[in-house]
Amino acid sequence: MKKKITIIGAGLAGSLLAVILAKKGFKVDVFERRPDMRKESISAGRSINLALSDRGIEALKLAGIDDFVLKQVIPMKGRLIHSVDGTKKIQPYSGRDKEYINSVSRGGLNIALMNKAEEYPNINFYFNQRVLKIDYNKKTFKVKNENSKEIQELVFNHLIGTDGAGSVVRLSYQTGGVKRFNFSQDFLSHGYKELAIPPGPDNEFQAESNVLHIWPRHDFMMIALPNLDKSFTVTLFNRFDGNTGFDSLDTNEKVEDFFNKYFPDAVSVMPNIIDDWHENPTSSLATVKCFPWAIEDKALIFGDASHAVVPFYGQGMNASFEDCRVFSELLDEYDNEIDWEELFDKFQNLRKENTDAIADLAIQNYAEMRSHVANPVFQIKRQVEMELESKYEDFSSKYSLVTFRDEIPYSKAKKLGELQDDYLMKICSNLGSAEEIDYDLVYTELKKIEESLD
Ligand SMILES: Cc1cc2nc3c(=O)[nH]c(=O)nc-3n(C[C@H](O)[C@H](O)[C@H](O)COP(=O)(O)OP(=O)(O)OC[C@H]3O[C@@H](n4cnc5c(N)ncnc54)[C@H](O)[C@@H]3O)c2cc1C
Repeated sequence: MKKKITIIGAGLAGSLLAVILAKKGFKVDVFERRPDMRKESISAGRSINLALSDRGIEALKLAGIDDFVLKQVIPMKGRLIHSVDGTKKIQPYSGRDKEYINSVSRGGLNIALMNKAEEYPNINFYFNQRVLKIDYNKKTFKVKNENSKEIQELVFNHLIGTDGAGSVVRLSYQTGGVKRFNFSQDFLSHGYKELAIPPGPDNEFQAESNVLHIWPRHDFMMIALPNLDKSFTVTLFNRFDGNTGFDSLDTNEKVEDFFNKYFPDAVSVMPNIIDDWHENPTSSLATVKCFPWAIEDKALIFGDASHAVVPFYGQGMNASFEDCRVFSELLDEYDNEIDWEELFDKFQNLRKENTDAIADLAIQNYAEMRSHVANPVFQIKRQVEMELESKYEDFSSKYSLVTFRDEIPYSKAKKLGELQDDYLMKICSNLGSAEEIDYDLVYTELKKIEESLD
């Protein structure tokens, strides 16, 4: 048996990483502060469902669980844009049929990963174990049993922190683990609240199921993703302050007026809106960037612990899964003796610029989702991109580069995508419709842009 690895956090990244390491023969101990979600009904975490796309699927393949997971998803082929007047417009995610994103249950996916992990006798999960503090000099950590309240001090060889955006592993870097630790946490002025569209009386979906619904309202927006039980999880993203912000929606009447005014078609299928409003929290959204992620050969932070991003590109989990894939490939470069310090260092240097890129793209995409999608020039540009993707197999729009081209790092997808966007927006601003385009000419220009990056 190879060395023991200690993982803190059995969320999405921690559970997948545990499987990948156990498959390679490591002994893996995973400490999780929550109860075992397979035995107790607990909140799945930061959202009820999520969009899974190619980078995430590639990583799931390493754990041999991609086929199982893909049987439990609902494909979403495009965005369905809802206007206030009730009209709807579909914007496909790609001009190629095989490229789409998938709505998956967070709890269902986490459980599937844990079940897979438990097929390996060399993985042990310790639930209800909240890690409090890590001493990187002594290579020990303090962990509290949430039931008995007993605190123990345990030792580790190599510790990997997958304990999410509020990471205690990262906090211990900040409070003495790392000299000159760089850290930033930027809150958005907008937060979110989850609501629901339940199944209809005939136990069927009450709206189109193979799309991601968006109600863009410039300063705020609502989205809905389908669930297997024929419901939708609806998320309102809104400012905290201002006339229509969360803080001002402080009576049932104001909430009802707000939804009737801005989302009339959705309200008609949301009978529990007021109960949901009170029961579900209003949560904040932040981007976390930090460096270094590694302490010598002792510790590494991973997933949201090192790079939490806002959810508007649907890539936070996909990026965290991609961390697992990249880490696995780096491990495979060693035959017998692993140089852990070198491995951790290579990992952080490879990933940092890419996770910074997706963090910035996610912020930019918020403006796109709540506002640009309703802009006529943007709509023509998307039609042009769809046509280019269906005509030319080797063209991908910025959205497709980020979402479907897992072989292209996020940083390159961002650079190329932004250059393409500038060029296409310029062309489309002078057009009445997408039919006026000379596609061969535009494709040739786009290829030149791509070559200029090589
Ligand atoms: C509203 C919303 C929507 C999102 N939608 C998408 C989407 O569509 N697509 C997408 O790719 N991403 C999405 N994301 C991002 C995604 O949720 C995260 O990127 C992903 O959960 C990161 O996985 P993780 O394992 O790093 O962290 P987490 O999933 O947060 O897991 C961390 C785990 O660590 C445990 N833990 C925390 N502290 C301790 C401690 N002290 N001791 C022991 N255990 C601890 C937690 O209980 C948890 O189990 C969304 C995020 C939000 C907020």
